[in-house]
Amino acid sequence: MKNYDLCIIGGGIVGLAIAFGEVQRGKSVVVLDGERSDRKASFANFGLVWAQGKGRGMPAYQALTQRSTDAWLDFTGLVEDASGMTLQYERNGGLVFCLSEEEFDARQRHLTALQLTSGFATDWEMLGRNETQMRLGDISLGREVVGASYCYRDGAVNPLHLVRSLSVAIEKLGGKLKREAFVQTLQQQTGSWIIKTATESIQAETVVVAAGLGSKKIAADLGVDLPIAADKGQILVSERRPQAMQLPASGLRQTQTGSFMIGATHEGDLDRRSTISSGAKLARRAVRTLPELEHVPIVRQWAGHRIVTPDTYPVYMQPLEGLIFAACHSGITLAAFHSSNWLEDPKVFESFSVERFVGKDKEKTAVTA
Ligand SMILES: Cc1cc2nc3c(=O)[nH]c(=O)nc-3n(C[C@H](O)[C@H](O)[C@H](O)COP(=O)(O)OP(=O)(O)OC[C@H]3O[C@@H](n4cnc5c(N)ncnc54)[C@H](O)[C@@H]3O)c2cc1C
Repeated sequence: MKNYDLCIIGGGIVGLAIAFGEVQRGKSVVVLDGERSDRKASFANFGLVWAQGKGRGMPAYQALTQRSTDAWLDFTGLVEDASGMTLQYERNGGLVFCLSEEEFDARQRHLTALQLTSGFATDWEMLGRNETQMRLGDISLGREVVGASYCYRDGAVNPLHLVRSLSVAIEKLGGKLKREAFVQTLQQQTGSWIIKTATESIQAETVVVAAGLGSKKIAADLGVDLPIAADKGQILVSERRPQAMQLPASGLRQTQTGSFMIGATHEGDLDRRSTISSGAKLARRAVRTLPELEHVPIVRQWAGHRIVTPDTYPVYMQPLEGLIFAACHSGITLAAFHSSNWLEDPKVFESFSVERFVGKDKEKTAVTA
């Protein structure tokens, strides 16, 4: 039986980012990923690397997001060097459009309140319509747009390139990545774990479960309650157009290859199919924001499921010796953090444990980006 320092269950962006960091630090690592047919948030997302507006009620998450977005440039360099591929990451700041005075005031109040409770240095500003237009570039704002909020930390990446580059980098650095290797059982032994798939058994000192929505069953089989649920989001993608949008916005961006991405909805629905009504809702707001999009053909629409906890913030927990769970939304944004040496940082487990839900209403806050 092959023996590793670390076995990561789940080869989505969370598992891959953790594996990349650990192989870089010299650990022997194997990543076991599930079936092609599994729901994979890492292939369905919007690609924002985003700090703006996040962390209401949880300064530790706000700090984590800021730390991760600030680490993204170095992280990009390391992944690109190791893989020889490009991530198409840009960090020029990002916008949240406001389509009425009420939206503008509400946005300002939200960011101000966040600022007051966190005590962090200001990284955002409210922009009037003219300033928003100037920073946005060569595409005209709709007449309803009164302005936007802007945060310099925000940016975007090509999420598919990120998955591919990390996969290549992990293997080049000596890690093992096994697809179609769905983990069936986990068994604790003295000082190690035995992990079984349909075809093999592996031994590892530490196991990190980063299996997205699949983590819930793995936890339940071990008698552990992992409070995660699915939050469906749909996205539209347009035909390619000449570059016009200089900054990404929450819900609307132009990729480096020219497509406009419009998204994403929030729906409780577990159905994996995309729908006309959600597409229409997304398209309506996009056209109100940038009327030139009205006649741009849509070439793709898809739905994916975010992994969300009751307050939408991450859970990092170590319920048994050598067993760690990592479950989060915003796994693209947090990829730089996940590649850092956090598995050995007790503060992370204290701040993001499930204890915070005990005795509280499992009420959801809004997920942004
Ligand atoms: C519509 C939408 C828009 C989003 N936009 C953004 C955004 O702009 N910015 C951002 O930061 N985040 C965004 N996200 C969130 C982001 O995509 C997720 O946080 C991230 O992809 C989660 O990655 P993951 O690795 O935890 O899960 P997944 O990508 O779901 O991967 C989990 C993996 O675990 C595997 N697995 C499951 N069970 C087992 C098992 N028993 N054995 C082995 N493997 C197993 C599965 O096969 C899968 O490959 C968005 C998500 C959605 C759906």
